[in-house]
Amino acid sequence: MDISPRLRCFSDSHHLEEFKDEDVRTVTSVEQEKVEHSIKEVLNVYQQIHSSPQPTLLREQHYQYLKKGLRHLSDAYECLDASRPWLCYWILHSLELLEEPVPASMASDVCQFLARCRSPTGGFAGGPGQHAHLAPTYAAVNALCILGTEEAYDVIDREKLLDFLFSVKQPDGSFIMHVGGEVDVRSAYCAASVASLTNIITPALFEGTPNWILSCQNWEGGLGGVPGLEAHGGYTFCGTAALVILGKEHMLDLKSLLRWVTSRQMRYEGGFQGRCNKLVDGCYSFWQAGLLPLLHRALFNDGEVTLSTKSWMFESQALQEYILLCCQNPGGGLLDKPGKARDFYHTCYCLSGLSIAQHFGNKDLHNELVLGKEENRLAPTHPVYNIGPEKVAQAFQHFHKLPVPTDRGAATAAAASSTEDQL
Ligand SMILES: [Zn+2]
Repeated sequence: MDISPRLRCFSDSHHLEEFKDEDVRTVTSVEQEKVEHSIKEVLNVYQQIHSSPQPTLLREQHYQYLKKGLRHLSDAYECLDASRPWLCYWILHSLELLEEPVPASMASDVCQFLARCRSPTGGFAGGPGQHAHLAPTYAAVNALCILGTEEAYDVIDREKLLDFLFSVKQPDGSFIMHVGGEVDVRSAYCAASVASLTNIITPALFEGTPNWILSCQNWEGGLGGVPGLEAHGGYTFCGTAALVILGKEHMLDLKSLLRWVTSRQMRYEGGFQGRCNKLVDGCYSFWQAGLLPLLHRALFNDGEVTLSTKSWMFESQALQEYILLCCQNPGGGLLDKPGKARDFYHTCYCLSGLSIAQHFGNKDLHNELVLGKEENRLAPTHPVYNIGPEKVAQAFQHFHKLPVPTDRGAATAAAASSTEDQL
């Protein structure tokens, strides 16, 4: 059998990367061994079927799965009734990575649906008639910027959006996810992302936010959801990307962050885990690997990375092998790990991670490595916003022509505090 030596997971030494429990069996070690076993089975079957392994992105199947999802969702999605703008974003972003255009009538239907999710209090809700929430607000703004039409941009009411952001801003610089809701670092990222894309950042809006985010970086090197919590891939991405938007990423302990994130790539599987001692999961292909272009740029600005640095900071080939061999459903859609069901969330973030692994680059380093056929190549994604880089530029161009709304939230807060002073 002709096994291409280029594939790491089919090399003779791959088994050396297997997990060793050192004769201490725990619930976690047993789960890890199970996952490695299931991956071994997937690779064996693949080798039996393909005499010359050439990982292939199932473009057509993914396209059909995504196209259907924009119109029809199965009953399994009922639990995401409060995340409907997310479904629009996950599907639209996956389609743009596959370079599949969205028909004008479909784009218009998505705009009209997202307009129904817009809350009278500003921001977007998880569905029509629900309360505004920062997470669907991020998803809706990203989805509308991917569409990038006048109709899409007009769905965003920038003044009301700014009012909403002030309504969830906390005195310590953090944000709550919704009025009466919880604080965590996702909210700072969602707020910074939508505010920067739509040009509504005012001096008061992110006052104290960088310092609050920095306090989420813990001894592990990554960031937790709030200060003192365990470092986690999703929160670490959110905190770092928010700091990049706010121009303060150099204030992180970049070296310990680099050590933490690179240690999250699994030796045997090639994909990433979200936290130390957890299992591989396809969605962290973006949350963890997407951090690395941001980190590379920050280290470059700090003089830690020089132009002579040719190699990338993670095994991009190993990640591509994991996504292409272990995370694709033959009928379309991508997944967490072998044995799991496909869904639009994992489809979006596996494809986003694949794109990052293929087009690595920032600040004069552009390493491109597309594993397998040329047709596997995806469009690049912007590592801060996770939409196409040209869609980010187009949104900036559109919204930066418009004036920044006045600091009504800050003015209201100032008025309230001066009233309090008087009482
Ligand atoms: Zn996942």
